[in-house]
Amino acid sequence: MSAIDNLPPLRAVIAANDLRAKKSLGQNFLLDLNLTARIARAAGDLRACDVLEVGPGPGGLTRGLLAEGARHVLAVEKDARCLPALEQIAAAYPGRLEVVNADALALDVESRLTPPIRVVSNLPYNVGTELLVRWLIPPRWPPFWQSLTLMFQKEVAQRIVARPGGKAYGRLAILAQWRAHASIVMSLPPEAFTPPPKISSAVVHLERRETPLAPADPDVLGRVVAAAFNQRRKMLRASLRGVAPDIEDRIRIAGLDPTMRAEQVPIEGFCALARAVAKGG
Ligand code: SAM
Repeated sequence: MSAIDNLPPLRAVIAANDLRAKKSLGQNFLLDLNLTARIARAAGDLRACDVLEVGPGPGGLTRGLLAEGARHVLAVEKDARCLPALEQIAAAYPGRLEVVNADALALDVESRLTPPIRVVSNLPYNVGTELLVRWLIPPRWPPFWQSLTLMFQKEVAQRIVARPGGKAYGRLAILAQWRAHASIVMSLPPEAFTPPPKISSAVVHLERRETPLAPADPDVLGRVVAAAFNQRRKMLRASLRGVAPDIEDRIRIAGLDPTMRAEQVPIEGFCALARAVAKGG
């Protein structure tokens, strides 16, 4: 019996199902169920929520989510070797866990979930960043999710929550914080995982804003931010030259100084710039 439920400890589950971690699938498992329950708690009150978990692996975090009272968990796992372990968890929590063997990048999850929906995942880092960006730029806002609680390598987590004025501040910070409140809620050393990765990790919690921080067309904002940070050491009047012929005027209309550099501009400033560029046609 484990710390949080009547199921076997994760080491026994992994041995019984011969779940040797595969590098190609970014498999670094969390085996401490007290830790996975803490991550589940960091996602907020799950009792009235459906939860999407991408990459449950042997199910440590899945068990944390269910033990913390999630109404329903949709677990999407690419590796079929994990299915028997996940089915065992489903049997222990009748009607509350749906397991789908699929690539999360190719699956329509929205139709399988009922709002309010929280996303909680410990994913391979590359898949995590790609999904985060997709979840932040849906066709309509607000999106299908209420919050995202995701594991990243520490350096990426710091870029997501970065404030203006430093090296970490860039496209990811603006994309995330324009549409959500983002914070690092936990830091984990390599030894928390089996096998341990080379770097430290952190859990980022993003709670969606019902309306973005300031008005802007997402495509124009994306274009302006990309141009500004592609040449982040240059002044705005130089880095944004390709965005509009009269860009210096537009920068002034937005209330900014054309000699500023991208990393000095707050998110509201980029939104004002996107509006000024859009108006200029
Ligand atoms: N959540 C488990 C834990 O905390 O112990 C496993 C974490 S492990 C870092 C990442 C998991 O994501 C693995 O089980 C892997 O097979 C799965 N995975 C990798 N790519 C995936 C994808 N595209 N879609 C769904 N699952 C994926």
